[in-house]
Amino acid sequence: MTPTSPGSTPDTGAAGQDGLQLVIRNARIATDDHDLHNIGVRDGIIVALTSRTEDLGPARATIDAEGRWVIPGAIDTHSHINQRAPEYNHVPGLGPDDNFAVETRGALAGGCTTALNYVQFGPPSLLDSYRSSLAAATGQSMMNVLFHGCLMTMDQVAEIPQAVAEGITTFKMFMPYRGEEARILGGIGSLNHAQMRTAFSEIVAHGAQALVHAEDGDIVDSCMHHEISAGLDSLAGWERSRPTIAEGDAAWTAMYLAEEAGCPVSIVHVSSLEAIRARRAVGYPGAGLESCVHYMLLNTSSDIGPEGKVAPPLRDPELAEAITEAVLAGEIDFFGSDHNVWPIAAKKEWESARPGLPGIGLMLPLLLTHLVHERGMSMERAIELTSRNAALRFGLPGKGLVAVGADADLVVLEEGRREIRADELHSAVDYSPYQGMTLRTWPLATVCGGTVVYQDGAFPNPDSRGEMLNNRFRSAVPGVV
Ligand SMILES: [Zn+2]
Repeated sequence: MTPTSPGSTPDTGAAGQDGLQLVIRNARIATDDHDLHNIGVRDGIIVALTSRTEDLGPARATIDAEGRWVIPGAIDTHSHINQRAPEYNHVPGLGPDDNFAVETRGALAGGCTTALNYVQFGPPSLLDSYRSSLAAATGQSMMNVLFHGCLMTMDQVAEIPQAVAEGITTFKMFMPYRGEEARILGGIGSLNHAQMRTAFSEIVAHGAQALVHAEDGDIVDSCMHHEISAGLDSLAGWERSRPTIAEGDAAWTAMYLAEEAGCPVSIVHVSSLEAIRARRAVGYPGAGLESCVHYMLLNTSSDIGPEGKVAPPLRDPELAEAITEAVLAGEIDFFGSDHNVWPIAAKKEWESARPGLPGIGLMLPLLLTHLVHERGMSMERAIELTSRNAALRFGLPGKGLVAVGADADLVVLEEGRREIRADELHSAVDYSPYQGMTLRTWPLATVCGGTVVYQDGAFPNPDSRGEMLNNRFRSAVPGVV
């Protein structure tokens, strides 16, 4: 369906000399008063937040929200844009020269204005990988990007000081991938516990923080071997190959080692109650938990095949409901999409299918539909989960709120009913595991850095580029590129 357009004037670039960059009128925002507000933006920052009766004067672009919700743009704490499979480099949108361009449009159409994106896996040097990932995003990305580093070898651990000097503040470690699985995945490496202990110390010594993919490699190896011998052919079999106990064991270990080192750590893509139980048991206040909407909305009974392969795996329907309950109870701190850019052709056979799901453009609409519309969560709490908590944890205090002085990353929300269709998601990924589901809310317009980047299914300022947020953390170290 075509959404109704709010009254607006296009951003023509013909600004009055002293006028505002953007005015959004009649916005419903998450405040104690239930009045509508006008929002004024200059130079990418919210400079005015007034009653709807106050005239903010001329602006280069205006949007009349007509009483709709205007919320902060989502911060996706976990995406893999540009983590491409080389055999698909020739496919439009899936190559090195256009993957960031295409996928960041899809994200903005879904109300996500900032991606905390992993540097590309693969090159032996973390710094080389970071620099090339940053260069690609700088030229192409329409959204803000903050790169997470990855530590797969001790050589990469040794690169931490220079990586921090160049603006990396977060480093991810993997626990499950070894041997044949690591080889199939293009060389993803896991650190052992002794190496992780060293890495946590090194990370905190440089003022950074850790992220951990928590699945225990010993348990996964053993269960995977069993399932493959038995003829892995279903979502339930894939789930048994990576049981929840593997997540609990690894999350417990990671949080314990991080606490001993005094290093902040986030357990990413939490898929079970085990990681939640581990956080309670360890009791380390520096531990954060990220989850993904697919662990609430998809499960082993979903009508999908190997395209539903993801690690950690989709769980059974009862556990998916329990994750929703845990989120409603405040046990999860922020959300990532774990957006992967594999086409359906890479997801055909159970054993060889690349793990990972697309979803950056649906994270916010699905979360709001599921938790706010269907389960009664407040919009204030949904904003904490989709942007504010991540902003505070990852050093972006101007994001995740609608207030004077905040970054003008904003989403105007439409409400109604809209069926999800993969071919309407502005992504190069040619399928969606959510195909056919119904959204109750979705973005009508998205503003990034004060520029209207998405409106009514179109991208009115296609040359706009997001901010490369690592630059905010770059040190003035001589010789740093
Ligand atoms: Zn991931």
